[in-house]
Amino acid sequence: MSFEDLGLAEPLVRALNAANYTEPTAIQLQAIPPAIAGRDLQGCAQTGTGKTAAFALPLLDRLIKNPRQGKLRGRLPRALVLSPTRELAGQIHDSVRRYGRHAMQNSLTIYGGVSQVPQVKGLNAGQDVLIATPGRLCDLMQQGYINLSEIEVFVLDEADRMLDMGFMPDIRRIIAKLPQQKQTLLFSATMPPEIQKLASQLLHDPVEINI
Ligand code: AMP
Repeated sequence: MSFEDLGLAEPLVRALNAANYTEPTAIQLQAIPPAIAGRDLQGCAQTGTGKTAAFALPLLDRLIKNPRQGKLRGRLPRALVLSPTRELAGQIHDSVRRYGRHAMQNSLTIYGGVSQVPQVKGLNAGQDVLIATPGRLCDLMQQGYINLSEIEVFVLDEADRMLDMGFMPDIRRIIAKLPQQKQTLLFSATMPPEIQKLASQLLHDPVEINI
């Protein structure tokens, strides 16, 4: 089974070929077809399984296949990925850029511990994909710099780590600002009760994947 067979948009297949990804990994095989069909996912998977591509490819596929019209400036983000750490957010951003290199999607990473000024400028420039740590995102949201009303795809990566780091109140604040109608992809290495509860509140008839 190739990435093309999974139904991904041509610009993505081209980028994957260039990156020498010849075959999808197990999680990619299980996650990509239902995700590009619009289903919610609950994935139990560790780092190193190829889980980043398992959510980044369907997310980009949706943005490519449903292009929006209009200028870039002032564009509100259509996809939001929450990640526990700045390092992981950076890795996700690198993957989104690598897989999306022929897809003309703007992306921005938002994280704490640095000046918010360039991040606010980036937001004002117009973005399609936001990758963020929950604390700084909430902070910018409270200052009125973030509008999540056009989010179509919402990804929680390493949800159990975000719970351990005390991000659950921030995550709940962020979720409250997202549109009701959206696709949600939740990944976690373990499924403690609080994550199960969040998943049952957030996900609609999810496809469950265990790697
Ligand atoms: P992840 O689990 O998302 O952190 O990915 C682990 C590593 O595997 C990363 O370095 C990816 O670039 C790489 N990778 C992901 N999917 C594939 C694939 N289908 N073929 C080859 N390498 C991959």
